[in-house]
Amino acid sequence: MTEELEKKFAYWHGIDRTKIPWYPTIDADKCIGCKLCFVSCGRNVFDFDMEENKAVVSKKFNCLVGCSTCATICPAGAISFPNKEMVHEIEREEKVLAKIQKEAKKKKVKMDIEKARKEVMDVLSKIKTKLNYEIAGNIYESDLFSKIHDEIMNCNIDIVDIHVESPSLKESWDMKAPSIAKFTVVSTKMEDISACAKLIDETIERSGNVLISKK
Ligand code: SF4
Ligand code: SF4
Repeated sequence: MTEELEKKFAYWHGIDRTKIPWYPTIDADKCIGCKLCFVSCGRNVFDFDMEENKAVVSKKFNCLVGCSTCATICPAGAISFPNKEMVHEIEREEKVLAKIQKEAKKKKVKMDIEKARKEVMDVLSKIKTKLNYEIAGNIYESDLFSKIHDEIMNCNIDIVDIHVESPSLKESWDMKAPSIAKFTVVSTKMEDISACAKLIDETIERSGNVLISKK
């Protein structure tokens, strides 16, 4: 019976997974039915035949190319894999190392964003004071956030939770349609941030935007 491929495992760095013969083979004579491989494999490559008391490979193409953990942990030495040189050859032929540069770049950006998000959450958990702002105007064109950033450089405050609502990018840039920006000014060090908030209020006014609410 042809194995039904799980979508998420159908390709390995763009290569049809069925073209890579990397998966475990079980020597049924050696298998002692301990179920370690069945329980340990996170990709459900194995099923377990209760009647025969043997592990069976049921979804071979779910196996992670290059992984051989189950063979390492099998106490009976019943699991084997092809020679890893076969994987290296496919890597060379399909220029996998060149392809993964893009994947690595995306992964790094995602990890950096995740790290920054955690740092922000950490800051949020220590907040002493916060002020929610809502403003309207030509947010992009007026370069508002860059100006606010320069003004508050020496204040013990930061701005989090920034949301800009615009009709569309073209409407905002080409037709000068106003946008609404919402953000929260926070401080983990000061109870009274009125002096810093004043700098923000003045910057909003100077940039031609309108302060709708501050609370
Ligand atoms: S780990 Fe080895 S001995 Fe245990 S069930 Fe799997 S194949 Fe059999
Ligand atoms: S090598 Fe890894 S992914 Fe493949 S079957 Fe064994 S434990 Fe699962």
